[in-house]
Amino acid sequence: MTQRATAIFHTFGCKLNFAETATVRDIFATHGITDCPEGGVPDFIVVNSCSVTAEADRKCRSAIRNFHRRYPQAAIVLTGCYAQLKPAEASLLPGVAVVAGVNDKLALADMALDWLERRRPHTEVRPVASLREFMPSCARGDRTRFFLKVQDGCDYWCSYCTIPRARGRSRSGTIADIVAQAEAAAEAGGKEIVITGVNIGDFGAGRDDSLLDLCRELDKVEGIVRYRISSIEPNLLTDDLIDFVASSRAFMPHFHIPLQSGSDAVLALMRRRYDTALFAAKVGRIRSVLPDAFIGVDIIAGARGETPEEFERSRSFVSSLDISRLHVFPYSERPGTRALDIAGVVDQAEKHRRAAELGKVSAGKLAGFSGRFTGSVRPVLLEHSHANGHIGGFTDNYLRVSVDAPASADNSIVDVRLGAYLPESESMEASVVAR
Ligand code: SF4
Repeated sequence: MTQRATAIFHTFGCKLNFAETATVRDIFATHGITDCPEGGVPDFIVVNSCSVTAEADRKCRSAIRNFHRRYPQAAIVLTGCYAQLKPAEASLLPGVAVVAGVNDKLALADMALDWLERRRPHTEVRPVASLREFMPSCARGDRTRFFLKVQDGCDYWCSYCTIPRARGRSRSGTIADIVAQAEAAAEAGGKEIVITGVNIGDFGAGRDDSLLDLCRELDKVEGIVRYRISSIEPNLLTDDLIDFVASSRAFMPHFHIPLQSGSDAVLALMRRRYDTALFAAKVGRIRSVLPDAFIGVDIIAGARGETPEEFERSRSFVSSLDISRLHVFPYSERPGTRALDIAGVVDQAEKHRRAAELGKVSAGKLAGFSGRFTGSVRPVLLEHSHANGHIGGFTDNYLRVSVDAPASADNSIVDVRLGAYLPESESMEASVVAR
């Protein structure tokens, strides 16, 4: 390449997408396409899209139109789940020069350079059934935290979900490769790694290793002082894995488990692979070996078939669990999903009323969980510098704090004494104590 080109990178959706965008950015840099400086005009706008809900599609289209209005000369390079699921629609959006599927992200820079040379729009989207190879990715989320992709795709086919259509079959990296990436992250100064994937509990499926085997090896990597396991399906969160987290060197007492409904009838309609009894048992197991663990739980409000009685059952079940917070998602209709055959559509207003009800449950859970730690001392990894002399961070059990500390304390672990819970910022008062 003779001319220098620049790009803006924009990511929608999950941690996995953020991890992959960082890898794409690195590859662009090796091809001579660097980040567009502040106030500059980019040659490319790389959009890594999401399609988890109809709203995600809409946001992606709207962002592309806005980018095109702002930078009419720039070529938009679009990838991710929206591009994979709707390539024809995506290619007609203004300014879009390249549309690439989820497993073609590593070739995006070549496609961008090809555009510079020929100025010919290009669409490269392979059917997901053909996706077999694992595209590795380990990205720096900020100065201290890395997102390490260990698995991609999903074979579960929950009735409301389009992800298997967009991401393809479940596939994983090798333990040796993933450990090497963790070692590289440690060498680059990373202290915390978030283990990410689409269905990470399925790591190693079809082979003779498992997520537990991987975690055991990662725990040995020097320099990484904290691991967090991102969302894991309850039926794949084994007791052995919970016990390992409790006895490990660096795995934090923090779990994120998608429940989706606290009604067994709705779970069956969703084609989830567990019932509420199993879910409650997993929460109980965590609490028995890690009483201070943060437990975040995803739940969908107003899914098809969720009658007022089933919603009440669901609300009452999550209220009864000893968890730390809910992540509430109003149900979103997705074309091509089996959920569209389920009777009992919940109208928008009722869906949002139910989401608000669950939001109240969540606020109570978070206040109750956080309040248990007022007056106690916990380690915090300081990770966000602020101009006003405060640095933010999370305790080992994922309580958000902000403390008075010099900028030089960034990326260090300090002990803090926790004060009152602050509901407006969903954080805790805290002050550094001498070690
Ligand atoms: S487990 Fe279910 S909800 Fe999660 S990605 Fe797979 S199909 Fe979608």
